[in-house]
Amino acid sequence: MAAPRKILILGGSAEARELAERLTPRFDVTTSLAGRVRNPAVPAGALRVGGFGGEAGLRKWLSDNAVDAVVDATHPFAATITENAVAACDRLGIPHLILRRPPWPAEDATVVSSAAEAKDAVMARGFSRVFLTSGRSSIGAFLFSDAWFLIRVVEPMSADELPERHHLLLSRGPYTVAEETELMRQYEIEVLVTKNSGGTMTSAKLDAAAALNIPVVMIDRPALPERVSTVSTVDEAQRWVIERDTAEV
Ligand code: NAP
Repeated sequence: MAAPRKILILGGSAEARELAERLTPRFDVTTSLAGRVRNPAVPAGALRVGGFGGEAGLRKWLSDNAVDAVVDATHPFAATITENAVAACDRLGIPHLILRRPPWPAEDATVVSSAAEAKDAVMARGFSRVFLTSGRSSIGAFLFSDAWFLIRVVEPMSADELPERHHLLLSRGPYTVAEETELMRQYEIEVLVTKNSGGTMTSAKLDAAAALNIPVVMIDRPALPERVSTVSTVDEAQRWVIERDTAEV
């Protein structure tokens, strides 16, 4: 019997974990994580943690490990690893798929394309109590502001990375609409800032904001690379891997 085909899943999302669970043990699956979170949920199959060392490092890793196919199931805002994976797979001729959950409908949100634009949108309307849920890399844009911030991130941050007036919440979701509503009420939130991450794990804040008539500033996703196969569900990604397996055996 032939050895199971080697699949690298670029992880860091719930979809990546779900895909690893479904493909193991039929495939020899390794999930790769950047290592940003101290106690990540452990996926099925093998796990490697830490950057590869740019596109060249990723290419070397793919060759050294004789990877047959790559599924990029990273978070929609993880643009660098996605670009590196496109380039590395292209150069090595390795089949490559991007799995991206669909974006949230922006509805009445103010859509911006960066954290700096989000800050401008918040300040232009004079909001003074801001719920920042857009991730640690976006907090810097709000550093020198007179507003007060409720900041929710997964990992601790140091005082010099945070605006002067804030309360820091460390948590990871999922959240319910009731919890999010209570939180926004408790802290008298006037505006919610979020990335357009999509998915159900953290979408309750949008329903809570709508119910409380709290405006939303939504940071739009980076564009996907061109000419790369992309799917939006774990089902489709699983099918893609299986189809390649049956076609090539
Ligand atoms: P990024 O900007 O695209 O990547 C920065 C660098 O981190 C990459 O160049 C790569 O280092 C390393 N890296 C990223 N993802 C990796 C992975 N899955 N395995 C190995 N190395 C990885 O990514 P990011 O926005 O910092 O996100 C880092 C990770 O957190 C991603 O896996 C993503 O799925 C997850 N995440 C991100 C967000 C977000 O909002 N950005 C939210 C939730 C989860 P080298 O160049 O050295 O290879």
